[in-house]
Amino acid sequence: MTLTEDFKQARERYLVSRGKSLTAIRAALIDMDGVLYDSMPLHARAWHQMMEENGVRTSVDEFFLYEGMTGPATIDLIFQRELGRRASDKECKELYARKGEIFRSFGQKPIMPGADIMLSTMQRLGWKRVLVTGSAQMSLLSHIDNDYPGAFSPEDRITALDVRKGKPDPEPYLRGLGKAGCLAEEAVVVENAPLGVRAGVAAGCFTIAVTTGPVTRKEFEKEGAHIIFSSMPEFADFLSSLPQ
Ligand code: CA
Repeated sequence: MTLTEDFKQARERYLVSRGKSLTAIRAALIDMDGVLYDSMPLHARAWHQMMEENGVRTSVDEFFLYEGMTGPATIDLIFQRELGRRASDKECKELYARKGEIFRSFGQKPIMPGADIMLSTMQRLGWKRVLVTGSAQMSLLSHIDNDYPGAFSPEDRITALDVRKGKPDPEPYLRGLGKAGCLAEEAVVVENAPLGVRAGVAAGCFTIAVTTGPVTRKEFEKEGAHIIFSSMPEFADFLSSLPQ
């Protein structure tokens, strides 16, 4: 079976499960870290280093599983596990600031291979592109216009600063749908993180998972991803094969 057939069947199953008939895709709600930038290995390293500086034991890889959660929620989760207590607001603020400092010290973040083709193909297909990120890292957000010129107009962006609840809550993607001006059935979500997939599914969107890190397919299946691609170039190639 080809990927095109897989995609078509996955989308039909999704529409049937929502009691809808075939609807055209009008928008793509696109995550940033791990989709547009190959930045997750650097985030994971920064998290691990910050925790190590504070004598808290973690593994580098575990941070790929927390991707999409807000910084304070991640710190609190690890504090409860390793120290047996909640992190205070002050600790969350200071430690998250330090993590950001370490992340920025790594310099420019590599662009994800295939992301530019994905974005230009979506434009050719007539899909409106909306950025939906849990990040509030201005360093990455300010690079978007340079690295992907014209892909996202300033009003078509949802960041951590625009939501009350971050992923895995559906709020960021529901707000993204508002920006796109379309129904959940008319949009696709593009995610690389299990918690991001959970948010996309909870928002009612056809959710595409792209595995760009060490997280296994099983984790994405558990969260209800409607289709899984094994890399961004594979997803971009697939999009390029779609008829206009
Ligand atoms: Ca991500």
